[in-house]
Amino acid sequence: MHIKKKNQYINIMIIPDSQHKIKNLRIKKSIVTTSIISLTTVLLMMFSITVYYAGSYGYLYTKLKYKDNIIAEKEQKIAQLSNMKKSQDTKIAMLNDNAKKIDEKMKSLDDLEQKVRRMLGLNQPETSRGEINRDERNISFDNISTNKLISEIDNKTIDYKNLLSEVTNKLDYLNSIPSAYPVNGNITSPFGNRVSPYDNTIEFHPGIDLAVDSGTPVKAAGKGIVTYAGWLSGYGNTVMIDHNYGITSVYGHNSQILVTVGQTVNRGDVIAKSGNSGRSTGPHVHFEVRLNGNPVDPMKYLAKEMK
Ligand SMILES: [Zn+2]
Repeated sequence: MHIKKKNQYINIMIIPDSQHKIKNLRIKKSIVTTSIISLTTVLLMMFSITVYYAGSYGYLYTKLKYKDNIIAEKEQKIAQLSNMKKSQDTKIAMLNDNAKKIDEKMKSLDDLEQKVRRMLGLNQPETSRGEINRDERNISFDNISTNKLISEIDNKTIDYKNLLSEVTNKLDYLNSIPSAYPVNGNITSPFGNRVSPYDNTIEFHPGIDLAVDSGTPVKAAGKGIVTYAGWLSGYGNTVMIDHNYGITSVYGHNSQILVTVGQTVNRGDVIAKSGNSGRSTGPHVHFEVRLNGNPVDPMKYLAKEMK
């Protein structure tokens, strides 16, 4: 049996409030079925699209978040590097400042060295940096300047070593030369040609005579080693001191000798007692200075004033 499905309807009754009539909608069942299928299809499509986009958004969100993190990390690193650069700039500025200070100190050492050399009558060293015009120098902490400064410090160190050895030698020389009067007394006979007190002829007097009472302490005129201590014809009881540098001093006519050969003496050490021994007309000290064995005027070595 065939049942006709055509013209099957669905009745929808709309019952309003009591003032209005009841409405009866009559819709074909096939239309309702088609509408439901269409609506479901549309809803399913919308749902799929929503799910797809939601998934994509989640992926993009994660990706963006990751990139944000990387950017934040990079920014942090940049900030760290910037801080490091700042602290390095500060350090470089400090080193530049130090380099300038070192240069200034070297300048004052230069001045000091020149002063010491002038005081001791020493020559200026050939390696002196005095010729460099410091106003034109731009000392800063870079490799060239630092190497320059280091080489200057090296040169300066050599200068100072040389100066120290020159000063040491000069001080030894100054301590050694016969510059102190052996006694305080009047010079009764100077160095050079004189009329002999014995026969009125012209004779050469190889030293100076200092008149003092017998027994007066006779002092070494400078540092040295005793090379003679005994009787010497004409000179009487005599002491000779070798002062190095080719210089010798002689002390004659003593009453007593207080040193022995080989003894080291310093300036001012008592070496004898004065007297009238040998070829002498009265108590005095005959003081002689010899340079390379030849008598020279002791006044060249003696201080301007007796002490
Ligand atoms: Zn004399």
